Amino acid sequence: MVVLRKVVIVGDGAAGIIAANKLRFHTSEKELDIVVIGNTPRHFYKPDGVLIPFGYKNYRKSVKPVNFLLNYSITYMKDEVIRINPDENILFLKSGKSVIADYIILATGDRYTPEEIPGYDGEAKHFFDLQNAMELREYMKTFQGGQVFIGSSSEIMQYPESLYEFAFLLDSYLSQNNLRDKTSINLTVPQTDLSPEPNTSSTLEKMLKERGIEYHGGVVIQSVNPKNKEVTDKKGQTYKYSLLVLTPPHHGQEFIKNSGIADENGYAIVEPNTLTVKGNKTLFAIGDANNLTKSKSATTAHAQASFVASAIVSEIVGGLREDKLTSKLPEFSLTGYNSGFSFFDLPGKVSRDVNPNKGDFMLRWTSADTYFSTILRGMV
Ligand SMILES: Cc1cc2nc3c(=O)[nH]c(=O)nc-3n(C[C@H](O)[C@H](O)[C@H](O)COP(=O)(O)OP(=O)(O)OC[C@H]3O[C@@H](n4cnc5c(N)ncnc54)[C@H](O)[C@@H]3O)c2cc1C
Repeated sequence: MVVLRKVVIVGDGAAGIIAANKLRFHTSEKELDIVVIGNTPRHFYKPDGVLIPFGYKNYRKSVKPVNFLLNYSITYMKDEVIRINPDENILFLKSGKSVIADYIILATGDRYTPEEIPGYDGEAKHFFDLQNAMELREYMKTFQGGQVFIGSSSEIMQYPESLYEFAFLLDSYLSQNNLRDKTSINLTVPQTDLSPEPNTSSTLEKMLKERGIEYHGGVVIQSVNPKNKEVTDKKGQTYKYSLLVLTPPHHGQEFIKNSGIADENGYAIVEPNTLTVKGNKTLFAIGDANNLTKSKSATTAHAQASFVASAIVSEIVGGLREDKLTSKLPEFSLTGYNSGFSFFDLPGKVSRDVNPNKGDFMLRWTSADTYFSTILRGMV
């Protein structure tokens, strides 16, 4: 006799959608009831956040309704989880409902907390969500040159590579608009290096120098002084700006912290080999929501969603499960002037050759289409 089980996925972003679609591919409706609870019914392809401020991409191509992205027979509930009982797999929702499930997958990403940085609000700009990327677009239309400071106020952040991508694209945009000689660009990153791969770091540093972009590693901004137009980092070093592009602090969601399963930054503490939370074999946390990495990425979210889906499928219908958590998708970095390069995030295994070219730029340019039609659908 087939026993119907229920999985609830909390979070309607990359990790949650991929996990739901992969589970539906491998189980029937009689075997598994799949519910996604999320509070963002229109899903934004975040990598396009670096293109939108320069008018290189229309935002409409970077957004799709979650309902459209979920495969058949997956229930989507627009709601918000406010608490979880991790011992009994019960979720409490903002609407007053509660949900109980055989399996729960937390895929709730990051929470931005700009209020932690004095002076940030109303002064700093960023491109880490659609609204802010579009506001920066409006600002760039009127930009006539000045001192641009690019940095992060958080050591934990999504795709730190996006900071140097933004700097390269800014350089190329300003040159096209005859504003480059009126502008200085100062790029800082929170990590000590631009990439975990030494070859990549040194090539990128060389390219930044050639483009006249000043660069400093290991810089985490702690305060903004709008009156003096300067920022101060955690070592007490100050930097001047006239345009401040600063990514906000990142944390896990409040309900994870309030449910007693989070680390000091609010991310769910998971077993690295199973992605299960706090000794509970049926509660998982994947993607940006867990505590495994400081540099968060969609390729990691994809690998973790596939891994957990395969573990649940193998328990319900049998068959082999993925035994390793390895990233399977290439990543791309844009370097301005219609160029980019691709790499695999396999630290220590490959020496990355950075060779910016038009082919990789084109793949990155069309990556939103691949993401919506193939990756999110669970096809790879
Ligand atoms: C500018 C930028 C560029 C990037 N470029 C790349 C790149 O080139 N390559 C790459 O691999 N990665 C890149 N990333 C990182 C990548 O986008 C993230 O790592 C990825 O989106 C993480 O997916 P996720 O599902 O874990 O989180 P998210 O996509 O953030 O999804 C979390 C979802 O959970 C929902 N949620 C939160 N709390 C609750 C709650 N309490 N109840 C219900 N729902 C809730 C949120 O509304 C959201 O929809 C980039 C990120 C940015 C910001």
